[in-house]
This record gives sequence, structure tokens and C-alpha cells, in this order.
Amino acid sequence: AIRAVTDPSIYVRPKIFDEFTLADRVAIVSGGNRGLGLEMAMALCEAGARAVYCLDLPKQGCAEWQAAHDFVARMDRGSRLEYVSCDVTNQNRVWTAVEEIGNKEKRVDICVAAAGILMNHIDCLEYPEDEFRKVMDVNTNGVLFTAQAAGRQMRRFGIPGSIVLVASMSGTLTNRGHSWVSYNTSKSACLQMARSMACELGKEGIRVNSLSPGHIFTALTRQYLDKHPTLLDKWSNLNPMGRIGRPDELRGVITWLASDASTFCTGSDILVDGGHHAW
Ligand code: NDP
Repeated sequence: AIRAVTDPSIYVRPKIFDEFTLADRVAIVSGGNRGLGLEMAMALCEAGARAVYCLDLPKQGCAEWQAAHDFVARMDRGSRLEYVSCDVTNQNRVWTAVEEIGNKEKRVDICVAAAGILMNHIDCLEYPEDEFRKVMDVNTNGVLFTAQAAGRQMRRFGIPGSIVLVASMSGTLTNRGHSWVSYNTSKSACLQMARSMACELGKEGIRVNSLSPGHIFTALTRQYLDKHPTLLDKWSNLNPMGRIGRPDELRGVITWLASDASTFCTGSDILVDGGHHAW
């Protein structure tokens, strides 16, 4: 064990920017059709990933994803953004889809489990079973199935990969006066899932962390902001920075978590909320 940290033949100090490169790496991003998933998928491509597979529900074309795809193609750096129709709540489908990616690419290095849903707020004592199960199914079970699918390929090819479970600040905090019991519970489970998987997979060099964004402007949050005109001010006032975040403000942190710049970071929750938790 001491050799692993002292032997110069094992530890060669790279140039700092080289630690962030994702050259030749293969990634899967669930929920990569739009919003935070798509933004993070593009960041991985820009950091040099050879191929980034966006797993998302079947769609008849999606302008946002297509524009991102064309942007990556125009970069002309050998990166590919691919779309795979896949419902993350179907374990067999996710495992098979990611195994096919492994067969083709002969590696899977990075997994970002970002598919998630937020249902309308319902009184916690009246929460209907089917609604609760639906949220848990996508946000917790789907995250596990995606992480498993990627981890299985990392183990198969002996790759010390990085798995990032997209949770939320709602996994630790409630949203003053507007607490979603299903969403908060499902995201809280992701934090403990990351810790547990990190402990089991650490010896294989596979890292598992959770990433917890605060309020970020995407289609998911827009559905509530459009319905409640005062909500944007309320969320902004709950934040020391006086605003909510932009999707591109996760690009740096996902590149760091996916890359060799974070090789000793596992089992952690990385909170990116503009200081909301500190307020
Ligand atoms: P979006 O709704 O914009 O994107 C979520 C994506 O996940 C959509 O493309 C959606 O597909 C897809 N998806 C939903 N269900 C499934 C499924 N069963 N299988 C595969 N894909 C699915 O949300 P955001 O980009 O805002 O959020 C991304 C993640 O970040 C979520 O996990 C969310 O909980 C989390 N998060 C977001 C925050 C925010 O403020 N935006 C804050 C904290 C966490 P479709 O288009 O068909 O619905």
C-alpha cells in the first residue's frame, strides 16, 4: 500500500491541465437528451472524450440534442455524441444498452446518472402510492441501474472509472415551505447509494460520487417557474448569490469528477448550489 503513494514508477506527476483531459474515454450520460445531462455530456466531449452516449426516453427528434450533436461534430476533434433510446427504470434494458456500448467501444470510463423527474407538489400525508413509486423508480432505481450498467463494463474491461450520481441539494435540505417528499427522499437515497457503491468498488479503482446541484434553470425547473410567477424571486432570495444557476455552471465540476484530476475523490457528495445550503 505504501508503494502506491511513494513509488515514482507508479506515481508520475502529470502536468496539471493534462489531468483534466478525457482523451479516448467513453462516457454514458442518462437523461442526456436535454438540460443538465446534455450540458454535462457536451462538457465531456469538449474535454476530449471519444464518445459520449446519451441514454434517454425514446423521442421523435429533439432540437436541443441535435444542435449539441452538430456542435460536437463541428468541433472536429474526433468526439462523438450518440443517442440511445433507453428507459432507465428498466434494469435489463439499461444493462443491455450499456453492454452493447462496451462491446463496440471496448471500454466505458465515465457514467453520469442524470435522468430524473420532479412531480407536482402534493401534501405529504396525501401522497398517492403510484406517484411516489414513479419518482423513486426514475430518481433512485434508475440511478442504481445506470450506475450498475456502467460499473459492470468498467469491471469487465478493468477500468478505474468514475461514476457520478446526480442527486440534488434537496437530498440534504428541504425547500423551505415547498418540500417535495418524493423528490427529496429519492435524492437523499442517491447520496447513500454513492457512498455504499464507493466502498464496495474502491479496491477496483472505480470511484462513485454524488453531485448535488441547487436550483438551476432547465425545463425541469421552468415548469414550476412558469406556473408560479413569484417563485424565481423566492429561490433567488434564498441564495447568497441572489440568483439561480445556469446549466453550464456544472461543466467544470463534471469534467473534474470524470477525470484523473479527482482520483482520490470517492464516496463524496459535491454540492454546487451557489451557497444555498449556507444561507
Ligand atoms: P430535465 O427534465 O431538463 O432533464 C431530465 C432528462 O431525463 C430528460 O431528458 C428526461 O426525458 C430524462 N428522463 C426522465 N425520465 C427518464 C427515464 N425513465 N429514462 C431515461 N431518461 C429519462 O431535468 P434537469 O436537466 O433539470 O435535471 C437533470 C438531473 O438533475 C435530474 O436528476 C434532476 O433531479 C437533477 N437536478 C436538477 C436541478 C435543477 O434545478 N434543474 C437541481 C438539482 C438536481 P424527457 O425529456 O422525455 O422528460
